[in-house]
This record gives sequence, C-alpha cells and structure tokens, in this order.
Amino acid sequence: ATPAALTAATGELALDGLLVTRGHTLEALAGATDVVFDKTGTLTHGRMRLVRTDCAGELAPGQALLLAAALESGSEHPIARALTDVASPGLLTAHRLANHPGEGVAGEIDGQRYRLGKAAFAAAGRALPALPSAPEGATEIWLATDDAVLARFAIGDSVREDAAEAIAALQAQGLTVHLLSGDGEAAVRQLAAELGISRLKAGASPEDKLAYVGALQQAGSRVLMVGDGINDAPVLSRADVSVAMGGGTDVAAESGDMLLIGNRLASLPAAVTMARRTRRVIR
Ligand code: ADP
Ligand code: MG
Repeated sequence: ATPAALTAATGELALDGLLVTRGHTLEALAGATDVVFDKTGTLTHGRMRLVRTDCAGELAPGQALLLAAALESGSEHPIARALTDVASPGLLTAHRLANHPGEGVAGEIDGQRYRLGKAAFAAAGRALPALPSAPEGATEIWLATDDAVLARFAIGDSVREDAAEAIAALQAQGLTVHLLSGDGEAAVRQLAAELGISRLKAGASPEDKLAYVGALQQAGSRVLMVGDGINDAPVLSRADVSVAMGGGTDVAAESGDMLLIGNRLASLPAAVTMARRTRRVIR
C-alpha cells in the first residue's frame, strides 16, 4: 500500500465530514457489498416529537404523560426527549429506573411498577387495547403496569433531507441497502417504501441486529453498517466497516471506524467512490 495515497484519501474524506478513526477502513469500504442502516437518528433526524396520546382506561392523557416523563428522566434516547419536552419530568418521582436498550424503560412510581416502550416490551404478551389508529409512520410507545396496558404515545420523526438521494447513489454503486430497526413494523415499512429500500427488519433487539449482520456475512456479504445509538454499538463493531453518526451516543462513536460529523448521508456514496479509486491506485 502506498501511504501517500491513503493519507490523501483520508484527508479528502475528512473535508467531506467523514472522519476515519481506524486503519484498514478504506480497504474495507472499497470491498463492501451491503450497506445496513439503522433508522432512528440515522436515516431520520432523531428529533422526535409527540403527535398524539391515547389512553385505554380512565387515566387522563396528561397524567399518562407525567408518568412517561418521570420514567424517561434517566434516558438519553430521542423518544425520551420527545416525552420530557411536553411534560415536566420532575412532577412525579420514579425509582429503580432501568434502561432496556432497544426496548424501553422501566421504573416504579408511588409503589407501582411501570414499563414504557415498544409493545412487546411494555405489554409483555398482554393484548393491546383497541385505540384509534396512530398516524401513519409514527413510532408507537406503550405505557403499562403488570396488570394493564394504560396508554399509547404516537411519536413522529422526520427523514433526513438527503437520505433518498444517498440510498439511490449507493444502490447505483451496486450495493444492497438494508434497513434494520428496533422500531415497529408499520413505521419501518413506511420509511423503507419512502426511500426505496426493499430489505428490512423491524422490531430488532440489539441481539437481532447482530444476528442479521452475522447472517449476511455468513452468506458472503461484506457489510458497511451505519448507526447512532447505544444499541448500535455491538453491531457497528461486528460489521466489516462502520460509520457512526455525529451527535449520536458516545458508545456508538467509539465503536465506529468512521464518524460522520455533519450527518450528511451523501458523504457515504462519495466515500465508497473514493475508497474504490484509492484501492485501484494502491494495487
Ligand atoms: P432504532 O433501531 O430505530 O434506532 P432503537 O433500537 O433505539 O430504535 O429503539 C427501538 C425501539 O425501542 C423504539 O422504537 C422504542 O419502541 C423502544 N425504545 C427504546 N428506547 C426507549 C426509551 N427510552 N423509551 C421508550 N421506548 C424506547
Ligand atoms: Mg438509532
């Protein structure tokens, strides 16, 4: 390898907002066959806001929100911010708070245990109450005790402006694009359709994410993973080469081979082009 060509390429990528933090990154990038994207905070801005609250029983929506805000008081997840933005997290005090990455949070308020998060986690096998349908594409977050499912919060996010273009460019480069998310089926399908991604997996736990990438590798693919969250850190490490979004969690940033500082997804196809060109120069 000629160090000069590598140094020049790395420098040019940095100008484009993509900081290479490990050796052999460009070589791996040039050889990638598949790109796997996380959804929230990666293809979307991760600036989530509450769009609707529905309660199942006699609990008032405002009260449900106070419970949710207290339960989220220790979480850095974009969903936590959406819920604490609209209700003061300090009005109720939650004890024994536990974070379940990729699933939700649990805690105790006034002696009552609560779970807040994806349906499978919050309701824990209990039937979901019939509620008016949530807005299309929204992330549905459920609040439940051990005895009853109490409320559903619909949380909206917006797609990054350059996501569709970046994905089309990666596909034109011959890469197979996947969407891998912990969010529910409806929200993930809606985004995949919008962005022209046909391979997707919804409701993925951190372990599911690892298994998904592992299966691709087993089948001979070389995987570029792009993610931002705490729960993405293991899968970023497992991938052949990885990009952490700037402004994501610290753990994700430390697990990535590259850091996308300005979050411009269009830098990804540009980096693939550059890596392939550099490899040709070196060989
Ligand atoms: P993604 O893979 O799209 O980035 P995550 O893996 O971070 O999403 O989260 C997956 C799902 O787990 C979320 O859609 C949500 O249902 C639930 N979840 C995770 N963290 C929290 C939290 N702090 N509060 C509520 N729900 C959460
Ligand atoms: Mg994420």
